[in-house]
Amino acid sequence: MSDAEALRALMEADRWIDRVLAQRDHLPEAEELTTLEADLRDEVVQIREAEAAAVPIRAAYEAAGDRADRIERRRRELESALTASTGGARDLSAMQHELESISSQGDVADEEALALLEDIEGRDAVIATLRADAKPKLARRDELRAAIEQLRATLDEEIASLRVARDERSSEVPESLRRRYQHALDRVGGSGAAQIVDGRCDGCRIGLAPLDLDRAKQLAEGTFMDCPSCGRVLLS
Ligand SMILES: [Zn+2]
Repeated sequence: MSDAEALRALMEADRWIDRVLAQRDHLPEAEELTTLEADLRDEVVQIREAEAAAVPIRAAYEAAGDRADRIERRRRELESALTASTGGARDLSAMQHELESISSQGDVADEEALALLEDIEGRDAVIATLRADAKPKLARRDELRAAIEQLRATLDEEIASLRVARDERSSEVPESLRRRYQHALDRVGGSGAAQIVDGRCDGCRIGLAPLDLDRAKQLAEGTFMDCPSCGRVLLS
């Protein structure tokens, strides 16, 4: 195998690893999960806000219920007192008057309690809808988490075995060239070599100056120049 072939094989091995790493770090499932989790966080906030807003309404409803009960008890007392009463006309009339007043207070309290109950039911329906909407999203979140974990484990295994193959290829590149390659790889990532395609370095995609292109063409077999832009060892 020529030095150029060994270098090319190493470059391709590193590019392959790089592609799998990119795949591992940009799983569509992970992107979906990020969006979904943001949605769920928003919904949790909405549910909490709706629940918090309902708390004083529930308290007001209970208070209105207690008030209505007290009024009802008083109304009954008055009714039985009236029925059993043997008092004078003036007493009866005063009691009758209070009974009318308390009855109308009772109506107001009942209406108030009913309005509050309707308000609470409306709020509960909104909260129930929010919860129902979140439920399938929670299930999808768990599904995505499991899928991502599995995909990443599979890709990690693949990367580990590609690295073993890569190191074998690396050992086939002469040491001084390998050092140049590794230096460029450490600095720019991806691979430490690149090819000239249509006058451009396909590592950094920057076009070579005509002078550099001429120089690259005139290089003796087994000698390589570095890309003036990214520093990768250039293969023609
Ligand atoms: Zn370059």
